[in-house]
Amino acid sequence: MALLLKNAHVVDPSVELDGVVDVLIGGDKIAEVGENLAVEGAEVRDLSGKYLVPGLVDMHVHLREPGYEVKEDIESGTRAAAKGGFTGVCAMPNTDPVTDNGTVVEFVKSRAAEVGHCRVYPSGAMTRGLKGEAMSEMGDMVAHGAVAFTDDGRGVQGAGMLRRCMDYGKMFGKVFMSHCQDEDLVGHGQINEGKVSTRLALEGWPAAGEELQIARDIEIAKLTGAKLHIQHISTAHGLEIVRAGKAAGVRVTCEATPHHMFLTENDLDETYNTSLKVNPPLRTDEDAEAIRQGVIDGTVDVIVTDHAPHTPWEKAREFELAPFGMIGLETSLSLVLTELVNTGKMSVGRMVELMAIKPREILGLDQVQVKAGSVADLTVFDPTVTWTVGEDGYESRAENSGFAGRTLTGRATDVFVGGKQTLADGCIC
Ligand SMILES: [Zn+2]
Repeated sequence: MALLLKNAHVVDPSVELDGVVDVLIGGDKIAEVGENLAVEGAEVRDLSGKYLVPGLVDMHVHLREPGYEVKEDIESGTRAAAKGGFTGVCAMPNTDPVTDNGTVVEFVKSRAAEVGHCRVYPSGAMTRGLKGEAMSEMGDMVAHGAVAFTDDGRGVQGAGMLRRCMDYGKMFGKVFMSHCQDEDLVGHGQINEGKVSTRLALEGWPAAGEELQIARDIEIAKLTGAKLHIQHISTAHGLEIVRAGKAAGVRVTCEATPHHMFLTENDLDETYNTSLKVNPPLRTDEDAEAIRQGVIDGTVDVIVTDHAPHTPWEKAREFELAPFGMIGLETSLSLVLTELVNTGKMSVGRMVELMAIKPREILGLDQVQVKAGSVADLTVFDPTVTWTVGEDGYESRAENSGFAGRTLTGRATDVFVGGKQTLADGCIC
């Protein structure tokens, strides 16, 4: 049966749409967009007061399956994604076994088709086993549907190795996504190196450990002509390097997480909250301000979560022994609405670029547009609803949110993936 979504404020800058219109969904596609649509026999949903935008995509997510299902699996991770308003996620390859060949890509795809609550776009490792020693089965993975290459979790340490991956792999037309961390320089760094690491007597993770590899990877992208995407950028100077690379014509894009925008090292205190232990670490106020500015002015291309679920017992260990990462899928949209959109710093249209249009463009996915004929991947949110993070638990199997207890305004209410509803009035379908 056709579904008529009425009275939502539709924002889609790709078709210059910003106003109240009705959207008719027929099958897996948008059948019609227009004012005061009336369709015989269609089911009607009134979305007055809500926004409807092209489905959001989070291009940096750890679903943990195969291998670490104790932390999260494809069912629970995509459930969290649907709850947060996403219609698709790009899964990182640091699973066990590592996603470094077509068979594992095929496994992730088939599990997602079976139990997923959103689309899952698998990425594949650049090097076998993420060891940085030999190239992965790049062509095999692309043939099976991998959308990008990355050794996320760590960087490719050897510049020559990165060059060989790019020189060979660029023929597949996919983006190379870099987790920038010079392991020799960072060592066992726990939090940003500076006053706070000194005060808390924790080993420092210096900004230069990230910035060196950002600069190096941009140089190698220039050398090889490959498409480079810098993951979870966290420092002001790192952003300056990306800005200069873009100005010089290098094919480089970058992403930022809500935690690097809205949390800083100053949120770490004597409680040693391990949910705030992330990689790269929370930086200074000046860094977070620069990242927020970059998101607004276009230097940052995409907002991602780096959703990194861990078990409670892992995060309950001493700070040095707890693993890096926090969950983010269920809070990302709400944080961006609360901190940037509702405060007037950024338009809903800019948010759509950052969370729907650019991720698809960088990953080479078909765009979703709010117009007749487009696939009906849509996100609906209520910009006024107020809620407290963690109060009603999480859809994710994990609970390691760095934003627990924070009151946010704005939340996804309805999500459609290929015309099929995955979230209805805030409840998983
Ligand atoms: Zn990473």
